[in-house]
Amino acid sequence: MARSSHDHAPARFGEATPPLDEAPPAAHPKVLRDELIAAAEWVSQYLSNLPEAPVSRPMPARQRARLREAPLGRTGGELGQVLDFVREEIAPFPTGNGHPAFFAWINSPPAPAGLIAELLGAAVNATCGMGDNALMDLERGTVRILADLAGLPATSGGVLTSGGSMANLLALATARTWYLTRRGSGDGTAYDRDHARLTLYYSAQAHMSVAKAAACIGIPAHRLRPVPSDAQHRLDPAALRAAVAADQAAGLLPFFTVTTLGTTATGAVDPLEPVTAICRSTGMWHHADGAWGGLGAVAPALAHLYRGVADVDSMTVDPHKSLSVPVGCGALLVTDPEHLHTAFAHRASYLTPGEPDTLPWLSHATIELTRPGTRALALWATLHHLGRDGVTTLLQHYLTLADRLRDKINANPRLELVAGGPWPVACFRLTDTGTSDPDTLHTRIAHHVRTAGRAYLATVTVHHRTVLRACLCNYRTSESDLDLLLREVLHAADADRAAPTQDTVE
Ligand SMILES: *Cc1c(COP(=O)(O)O)cnc(C)c1O
Repeated sequence: MARSSHDHAPARFGEATPPLDEAPPAAHPKVLRDELIAAAEWVSQYLSNLPEAPVSRPMPARQRARLREAPLGRTGGELGQVLDFVREEIAPFPTGNGHPAFFAWINSPPAPAGLIAELLGAAVNATCGMGDNALMDLERGTVRILADLAGLPATSGGVLTSGGSMANLLALATARTWYLTRRGSGDGTAYDRDHARLTLYYSAQAHMSVAKAAACIGIPAHRLRPVPSDAQHRLDPAALRAAVAADQAAGLLPFFTVTTLGTTATGAVDPLEPVTAICRSTGMWHHADGAWGGLGAVAPALAHLYRGVADVDSMTVDPHKSLSVPVGCGALLVTDPEHLHTAFAHRASYLTPGEPDTLPWLSHATIELTRPGTRALALWATLHHLGRDGVTTLLQHYLTLADRLRDKINANPRLELVAGGPWPVACFRLTDTGTSDPDTLHTRIAHHVRTAGRAYLATVTVHHRTVLRACLCNYRTSESDLDLLLREVLHAADADRAAPTQDTVE
């Protein structure tokens, strides 16, 4: 369905030679203005109607193929086609994470301030890699605010990233340079010799991006040490100490330990102080992966678990998870930012900071050179819209919802809470499954709920069993959505029992 045509000539390119002062893709100012207004109107309608739409819906195979295979036409189109395309081909098939009944992964809806900032930041289009511009200073400022919210010392710095995976990769590469440089094996045959002996540690509950990052920097799987976790899914410091000692005795070089603040599966927070103590006594770098739970220190209910957080060497935080900054906005925070510069400051003749008092460019603290300023602006806008109290209230909202959800599960004789917390997640199962294969049943139930389109949850493996998992990270979620979710689960279970053969993918 196309919108009515405009009262001015459409900006169509490719049909005639454009004037020299306005090459494609330039747009007539009035066309641009009208389209921006139309887009803004559509966005506000879309977001306010979103709870009425299905959480997600299956995408027709033909449409998927069209998106993958459609060729580029010879002549260009009208600017207004962008909105038409998004409305008809993209928006009806979201991941679902904008919807208040989406509980599957740690994916939030976009914060309104972040949304506006993304558009404005794209217009300014600063690159936060080199040179001087306002957004680069704003990035330094937002990183400092994040570090402060996380409870890190005032000396801290860091960079924004595309997300937690990239932040974990930067942390690992930084720690490797720090460790090898300190040993005098930053290059040459000493590097080859020592690099081949590096070992790293994390709990068995850690996010898989840690192992992926290790693979990227050339540390093979056989030198990774997933350390056992305790009954509450927290890293066991005694097991860490034993693993490190065994590796040292074998002539290996333990250099990096990751604690997780808010594990992805069950929301556990690893013990910080005992791990820092082990890292200090063995010469390791302590990285806290707080992609989800890095800001827990600001929530009074969680603060006691973050004692000692100021002593970690680095921390990953994902503002696109807990703060609803639009995807992708992650951050690596480092208590001594000099370590980042040692790892990443590579120079080129055409890229030389000018004045002697110039601050280090952000490209000297990360892998990227041309970097979006939209991240800093969207983060700044979201943080300033919330204020410090708003951040606390938001996290507390999720914690309260999760408590309610766990209470409702505990109160329902057909459901059993298996794990969850202190971060806002509930892992649960059916008590009376009536089947010898409850794992497959739970997978089927999650699938049934998703296909019905009124709610969306995931499954996860806890204690070797497949169970249902619902996490809370949507500021639009209310208590009625929790009731809806549990209703949908029980309804799916009843339907499955009534027709156990109809479990194939539609
Ligand atoms: C989500 C998550 C990551 C990965 O972050 P992305 O932004 O998805 O790349 C890493 N660690 C933990 C603990 C996470 O929850």
